[in-house]
Amino acid sequence: MSFKSLGLSEPILKAIQKKGYETPSPIQAKAIPPVLEGKDVLASAQTGTGKTAGFTLPLLHNLSTSGSEQRHRPIRALVLTPTRELAAQVHANVKEYSEFLNIRSTVIFGGVNQKPQVNKLSQGIDVLVATPGRLLDLESQGLLSLKHVEIFVLDEADRMLDMGFLRDIERVMKLIPKKRQNLMFSATFSKDIKKLAYSILNNPVQVEATPENTAVEVIEQKVYRVAKGKKTGLIIKLISEGDWKQVLVFTRTKHGANNLCKKMISAGITAAAIHGNKSQGARTKALAGFKNGSIRVLVATDIAARGLDIPLLPHVINFELPNISEDYVHRIGRTGRAGASGQAISLVSADETTFLRDIQKLIGMKIEVEIVEGFEPDPNASTEPIKPGQNRNQGRGRGSNSRNSGKPKSSSSDRNKSKSRSRSNDSRR
Ligand code: AMP
Repeated sequence: MSFKSLGLSEPILKAIQKKGYETPSPIQAKAIPPVLEGKDVLASAQTGTGKTAGFTLPLLHNLSTSGSEQRHRPIRALVLTPTRELAAQVHANVKEYSEFLNIRSTVIFGGVNQKPQVNKLSQGIDVLVATPGRLLDLESQGLLSLKHVEIFVLDEADRMLDMGFLRDIERVMKLIPKKRQNLMFSATFSKDIKKLAYSILNNPVQVEATPENTAVEVIEQKVYRVAKGKKTGLIIKLISEGDWKQVLVFTRTKHGANNLCKKMISAGITAAAIHGNKSQGARTKALAGFKNGSIRVLVATDIAARGLDIPLLPHVINFELPNISEDYVHRIGRTGRAGASGQAISLVSADETTFLRDIQKLIGMKIEVEIVEGFEPDPNASTEPIKPGQNRNQGRGRGSNSRNSGKPKSSSSDRNKSKSRSRSNDSRR
């Protein structure tokens, strides 16, 4: 199958060629035709599947071939994303794919001065990529109007709900016209996501794609059993002795990410932390450094790492296991992308034994276990799981870019997702 056979216009094919894509990914092959037909689409796809082009390419085609009659350009397509990083990435893609079209786009998110964003908007924008908080902020100030939106995209809908954006989404829905095309993407489909889909979409075509290269079987997974207090020493040893150059490390809390980052730097390993309490500038700088190789280790929390487009990641390390098993699959899905082989390592202390058992149950396989001399597990440590809410005072809470900061983060999807183990430590991530 070729992009041409999907029916995309010449200027878009030219941009695709410039990007070097040869064939559509499975999600693109499935989603592009119904979107071009103007249908609503509900897609099951996560980062790494090529989902962004899956909605952006046909969206640009539809906008550029239908043409707006208005003299002053109104916002005709709105893409809503949960995080600033994802918004920036989606917009970068929109810009690349629309290079040969007469389409203007911009991105807005919180945590940065609104003035440059407002200036851009005032010039007339066809495609707006936004996070919910800043979007509603600017709308309520009368600085943008969503009355002419023809296409509405909700990206990473599951993470939107996890982050407590349901109310904001509902508010946005009230600001856009009833008659419109809707596209919704989500990696998982809980009862709440289905309910949201039902309220937004109109007779949608459902498409599904699992990441091509991120099947858990193709990723080399390993567990190091280690005493809790020896994890830092072990991770530094593994990275230094393995001479690993690009390592994404997950911690459970922002405080943990900062701490580990400091210790890495003291050990002579270039590292940066990325989490909800970091300023937008710091996050962008960290990500750029990680991508260009000047930073070897990026220490991230789950929420911050979600949606980051870092292709060809050779190493992912779980400094701590996530207490939600699905997060493990998301985390390790960041390695071995685009056909490259990857290694996912987890440092597991006694109190994470239950998490490990649940993860193995979810992925349907036992992970190879190794113990490194000098970094043995503590035989006397309790296997009692870390309770959500421990170290609660570590960090200010996520969402400083959203109007949700301060609100309780437990959405009904969370409750549904994890009855036995609460996500109430979310604000620390
Ligand atoms: P996404 O899932 O949208 O975050 O995309 C993951 C990565 O795949 C990005 O780096 C894209 O540039 C890349 N990509 C998207 N579509 C294709 C394609 N058809 N062929 C090759 N790479 C692609």
